[in-house]
Amino acid sequence: MPKYALCLAALLTSIFAATGSVAQFPGMSSAKHYAWSDKSLSPDARADMVIKEMTLDEKIQLLHGPGWQAIFAPQESGPLTRAIAVLGFIPGVPRLGIPDLQMTDSNQGISMAGSKGRYATALPSDEAMAAAWDPELSYEIGTMLGHEMRAIGFNMSLGSGINLIREPRDGRTFEYKGEDPLLAGTLAGQELKAEKALHLITDLKHYAVNDQDAGRIVANSIISKRAMRESDLLAFQIALKDSGAGAIMCSYNRINGIYACENSYTLTDVLKKDFGFKGFVVSDWGGTQSTVKAAMAGLDVEMPGNDSFGAPLKKAVESGEVPMDRLNDMVHRVLRTEFDSGIVDDPPQPESPDVMRGFEVAQKTEERGAVLLKNAANLLPLNAASIKSIAVIGGHADAGVLSGGGSSQVSPAGGNAVPPPPELMKNPLTAFMLLEVYHRSAPLKGIQQKAPHAIVKFDPGTDPVSAAALAKSSQIAIVFAVQHESEGMDLKNLSLPDKQDSLIEAVAAANPHTIVVLESGGAVLMPWIDKVGSVVEAWYPGIRGSEAIANLLFGEVNPSGKLPITFPMSESDLPHPVHVDPPKADANHPVPKLAGAPGLIGMAMGIAPSFDVPYDEGLKVGYKWYDAEKKPVLFPFGFGLSYTTFAYSGLKIAPGDATTVSFTVKNTGKRAGSEIAQVYASLPESAGEPPNRLIGWSRIDLAPGESKQATVTVNRDRLMIFDEESDSWKLPAGQYVLRAGSSSRNLPLQQTVSFEK
Ligand code: BGC
Repeated sequence: MPKYALCLAALLTSIFAATGSVAQFPGMSSAKHYAWSDKSLSPDARADMVIKEMTLDEKIQLLHGPGWQAIFAPQESGPLTRAIAVLGFIPGVPRLGIPDLQMTDSNQGISMAGSKGRYATALPSDEAMAAAWDPELSYEIGTMLGHEMRAIGFNMSLGSGINLIREPRDGRTFEYKGEDPLLAGTLAGQELKAEKALHLITDLKHYAVNDQDAGRIVANSIISKRAMRESDLLAFQIALKDSGAGAIMCSYNRINGIYACENSYTLTDVLKKDFGFKGFVVSDWGGTQSTVKAAMAGLDVEMPGNDSFGAPLKKAVESGEVPMDRLNDMVHRVLRTEFDSGIVDDPPQPESPDVMRGFEVAQKTEERGAVLLKNAANLLPLNAASIKSIAVIGGHADAGVLSGGGSSQVSPAGGNAVPPPPELMKNPLTAFMLLEVYHRSAPLKGIQQKAPHAIVKFDPGTDPVSAAALAKSSQIAIVFAVQHESEGMDLKNLSLPDKQDSLIEAVAAANPHTIVVLESGGAVLMPWIDKVGSVVEAWYPGIRGSEAIANLLFGEVNPSGKLPITFPMSESDLPHPVHVDPPKADANHPVPKLAGAPGLIGMAMGIAPSFDVPYDEGLKVGYKWYDAEKKPVLFPFGFGLSYTTFAYSGLKIAPGDATTVSFTVKNTGKRAGSEIAQVYASLPESAGEPPNRLIGWSRIDLAPGESKQATVTVNRDRLMIFDEESDSWKLPAGQYVLRAGSSSRNLPLQQTVSFEK
């Protein structure tokens, strides 16, 4: 292990020792025995017993956060002093042994750890996790996150995010798990299952169709029932079933005219009735717009405010507008989730964070999630023994790796590797969105370590002429290109910012052995693709980015990641070539009065005049759109190269309720490698579906020359369509073509099978 990693670990462990040496977290558990302490009783029975003892005030208290005022001016006494992060806190009821809820965002690490100055592992972005297509890895990630949460005292996570990448310019693409509901739902399901196994309440967000961040609090997503059931809602359905998540966070936006947090179709009809969700619905922060409407539609908890579910909810219950039965249902949902998750019986105890374990998981995720997009003439992997000189250019590669901004931002251990301009920090709103945080894991260092005999020089890439001169005098040129994304805003376009395209062109013109390493939240356009030798999509690489990228470039790790999103040729090919921007406020477009999201925070949430976002591509999200429209793409969904090659043969299909699809994958190259073999289905024409739907995949590790059989089991549900008329899922009778191969656009094996209704 490199020396600096050890130093960092030691530093972090000492920080913990200084701050975390209490024997038990305050407000976490009570040794006292209550009738409902009996673990042999069901979570529902235990919750009902507690409810019988509760006063109205205690019930209301469990259903909202501390209020914005408390967040901006935290109190010095009272229950809020027990909060790890006031922004994610609901005080419990100590007299009844009901613990505080201590919540944290956890998409790419424990982001609220920073509020108490505590360390958390900065993982690669969710898009990188998704690109690994590896449910076991997602479980490992969940376990690591769970341990880190418990070590600090959090008992509820606010992640995973599984909005589908419908609008690739969405500023939160990096927080989501790609464009396919089966992939996103399966991976999130495993991550949260692991967290739940460690006795934490888990949460899926942002429910639903919150597919752009610009103007998110006033945007009205317009979409048909069938389209949402088969796309965005399906991801939640799959993740919920696999994980038993205890909470669902409703989103800011409206869906077909009704706020997601007061939408009885999505919250009650679909989530609670059809999906059978027994946990509680929590509003996104400031996303509660009413009291009675929201409560009656299915919202259970308001966060982090108390404007709707504090005193106004009490009043509505007293007046009968919100019946006591509904209030009890809201409280029951919270309490049964607390018992079901184990946070009452097994509250977190202080632990040392396992820094090295975090490093391992972060590195493995990056090594499995990075995607090799191009490798002309096998430029990669680099041979350290024969390389004399390397130019490393741009992307602050001498200092660290980029990360995504907003609520999921993990505090950089040791501080931001690239100090931000001081004027940016003066305005908290612009800092929230525009601050580019670089974690201290410099790719330059990793490259130098792998090639100790080569001259490795760095150029910041700000001047293409100087960068090209260095590239010309070096044997190999590696350009690190960055694209920052953050919550609260969308990207202006999919082009690399800050003239990085010209930089790459200039370097590629100076050196035919140019490699581009992208640190982006999602898809980027590549006008220079034909001029460079190799391209690696590294996403936001996390705290071990340097080691992982160097291992991939020098072939110690063979790339195996596959794209969880399509990279389009141009924005004119997108379902919405022009991004739907929130309108500017004027006399005809007034800003609506909103109950949630006051002041600065509200602005970060995108308060503007209301506007519609018509998702008329419907269920044709991502590759389904490009396939249906027969559009060529830059890199298709599911695509990713390796330093070896694979051949597919011998497809066999045994149709049934659980159809098995088996075939042989052979490593036809000279290196060991892993292939993510994918299976897609074309439904009968009468189904009116896009041409291709992912129905399963298998990750296979193969030695050179080795063949293995891959078997993918496809449950009947994966072949169904949602029928609006009967409001139910149906299996269209007829001929299905099942295909297998290495990406959504390379499916060499196919067979037709028939299914009856
Ligand atoms: C984000 C949520 C997050 C919450 C709490 C909101 O701004 O949209 O994803 O969980 O803040 O940090």
